[in-house]
Amino acid sequence: MANRDQLRAVGEMCPDFTFDDSLYKNGSTMSINEAGGRSCEICMHWDTKNQKCKIDVFDDVLTSLDQT
Ligand code: SF4
Repeated sequence: MANRDQLRAVGEMCPDFTFDDSLYKNGSTMSINEAGGRSCEICMHWDTKNQKCKIDVFDDVLTSLDQT
């Protein structure tokens, strides 16, 4: 399973990142402020329950990070 550093690194670089507004609406802004940037955890494509990217681009982005 991806660790938090990976979620942040991928979130920063992912072309499909879309901020999940619902996180603000339900008041759980703590993790957003704490992260101080993009992360899969605050992306609307992130499946929190299954800890995976719903549109399956996580591995692609992670692989491209490894190559740089
Ligand atoms: S959850 Fe998926 S679409 Fe969103 S930033 Fe992560 S890899 Fe990209």
